Amino acid sequence: MDFKIRCGCGRNVPVPSSAAGSQFRCTCGQILSVPKLSELRIQAGKAPFERTTAERIGQMVADNALPDGNQCASCGTVTGEALKVLLVCERPWQRHAGIWAKIASHAFVFWEWLLSRHPEEPLGRELVVPVPLRMCAACATDLKRRQPQHEIRRILEDVPVYDELLRQYPGAVAMLDV
Ligand SMILES: [Zn+2]
Ligand SMILES: [Zn+2]
Repeated sequence: MDFKIRCGCGRNVPVPSSAAGSQFRCTCGQILSVPKLSELRIQAGKAPFERTTAERIGQMVADNALPDGNQCASCGTVTGEALKVLLVCERPWQRHAGIWAKIASHAFVFWEWLLSRHPEEPLGRELVVPVPLRMCAACATDLKRRQPQHEIRRILEDVPVYDELLRQYPGAVAMLDV
């Protein structure tokens, strides 16, 4: 996106975010020093850094903005109860799923892959995001007993910010707090 910085000539000069921290020439000819991206974002009234969906959800949960609404996500009954759900978004074996599939048929690929890896490169990290749902006690008990992945996923997808996260991590697994 473009940010605006003020030139001595009075113009508000639109500068692309790619120009942050460098210099930009106004149409009047003056060379302007463009602030760092974080400063440009603050001046534009935004958070200094772009946050990930997972970080935004974490913040919303901390702020008690989630779960939202007062209706059970499953049966629609008005309720103040919530179901604790964790979404395990990333696991080492998921990130390297493609490689592991190859290993199954060609063992030598595994060695090629091992040799090509930098020793300090992590195999992957686990990203676990709390995705609490507004849910009545009866529905929560039922879900905990059955643990139906597909159904839980469908319920999560109805919450826009959870849907966004699920699109980023299609292999994510939902875990219910039992
Ligand atoms: Zn100017
Ligand atoms: Zn319910």
